[in-house]
Amino acid sequence: MTRISDLLKKFDLTGDKGDLNVFSPIDGSLIGELQMHTSEDVDKAIKKADAAFDIWKKTPPPVRGELVRLLGEELRSAKADLGALVTVECGKIASEGLGEVQEMIDICDFAVGLSRQLYGLTIASERPGHHMREVWHPAGTVAVISAFNFPVAVWSWNAAIAFVCGDPVIWKPSEKTPLTALACKVVFERALKRFRDAGHDAPEGLLSVLIGEKDIGQTLVNDERVPLVSATGSVPMGRAVAQDVAKRLGRSLLELGGNNAMIVTPAADLDMAMRAILFSAVGTAGQRCTSLRRLIVHQDVADGLLEKLKKAYGSLRIGDPLDKNTLVGPLIDDVACKAMEKSVETAKSEGGELVCGGARAKGDMPKGGHYMEPAIIRMSEQKEIVCHETFAPILYVMTYSDLEDAIRMNNAVPQGLSSCIFTTDIREAELFLSSGGSDCGIANVNIGPSGAEIGGAFGGEKETGGGRESGSDSWKFYMRRQTQTINYSRELPLAQGVKFDV
Ligand code: NAD
Repeated sequence: MTRISDLLKKFDLTGDKGDLNVFSPIDGSLIGELQMHTSEDVDKAIKKADAAFDIWKKTPPPVRGELVRLLGEELRSAKADLGALVTVECGKIASEGLGEVQEMIDICDFAVGLSRQLYGLTIASERPGHHMREVWHPAGTVAVISAFNFPVAVWSWNAAIAFVCGDPVIWKPSEKTPLTALACKVVFERALKRFRDAGHDAPEGLLSVLIGEKDIGQTLVNDERVPLVSATGSVPMGRAVAQDVAKRLGRSLLELGGNNAMIVTPAADLDMAMRAILFSAVGTAGQRCTSLRRLIVHQDVADGLLEKLKKAYGSLRIGDPLDKNTLVGPLIDDVACKAMEKSVETAKSEGGELVCGGARAKGDMPKGGHYMEPAIIRMSEQKEIVCHETFAPILYVMTYSDLEDAIRMNNAVPQGLSSCIFTTDIREAELFLSSGGSDCGIANVNIGPSGAEIGGAFGGEKETGGGRESGSDSWKFYMRRQTQTINYSRELPLAQGVKFDV
């Protein structure tokens, strides 16, 4: 794979000789040896962010938005290279690598508009000659801890919003995908230069990227100078972060694992459901937090649907994600392949019938890569293994006869990220969306559970962590709320009619 050195050059990355080895999942080749940061570097980054905050919080939000607009422009210019780097470093197929960068551009556009809309409220006061209002002020330094599977987009969901909200960002990317993070920093610096050249003041320390393993994340998380920690990753990571941040009464925004289901009813457009199942179950090689993991199909249509699915799985093109014909790329590493094999065995021991897949993929694919055949496993009921998120392309299929039972099954897992129903019956659809329906943060009708747009708030309930990022009013997480009461009268009446005349 010769392209990696060209790609790194495009971002002025030389791959300095350090202790963090970065491997491409495509062929297992070593693509970087990076210097890791130390706890002293964390301290320096926090001090720099503090100094940046003093200036940035006083910069008018629309001026802050201008920096994000320039970031969006630079991302447009860098889209092809950054998308390819995402593919090489995390193994997404080429169009998904590009799609991830597109998502970054979209959130920049959203944030630019937001920079003129950080709306507060005016509130009626009970006292004459008074008025009240609620305003939103910048919160301070935001630590962003991200996972390998969205190596760049998750940073941008946080950073674009944080920057317009007036907050500096310290980013600890996954140790499995640090090169894309360093590339993003270079793209950001290009925007910063243009912003400064236009005469704006942009402080040093607005963005720091800290390379390292979980200890660097832990140092950040435990530092009381970081008011908000936005962490994306596994449930065990989120549990640890939540406890550490809570100990110092900081704020955390958690985006953790999912175990997403699709209900297919007899009223579904089955061809459309099929296409949605394929993209959401095997796309990104099953390594999206929103990947489809549980298919809950009405018993009258299950056999026919499963037959067609098996056939479609048999013709999936698995292989080099840089090849534009490939639909399923590699898993991130061998540990992920072994975890998939283990879950397949456990499911079989719990009574599951392996319909297809589940083994190492054979055929014409780069040697040394981590390629698996996506698996379908039919389960008689939702056993323990089905309630567990295996971060790999395993689709468990269960049947139902009563929609209320299917909805109960949808909800009967510890995670609560995404969910969907395929039906053309409005009663079924509305029941699924009602307060007695899906308990997830995302509920879709006639769309798979994955591939959300940035305009909506993204996140989920229960073990998924309860955080919301990206669109809607998620920006409020990145700001502090202040209630203000202004007395423009010559009297000093007290609230609730209290008298205190001296
Ligand atoms: P991971 O939990 O292994 O690592 C995520 C990040 O957390 C890494 O940067 C890691 O170094 C850091 N980290 C780990 N332990 C830490 C600790 N105690 N303190 C501070 N930092 C710590 O996750 P992963 O394997 O990279 O990603 C896959 C997981 O992420 C899946 O469970 C997936 O569902 C989840 N995910 C969720 C979302 C979402 O938005 N809900 C999005 C992407 C991925």
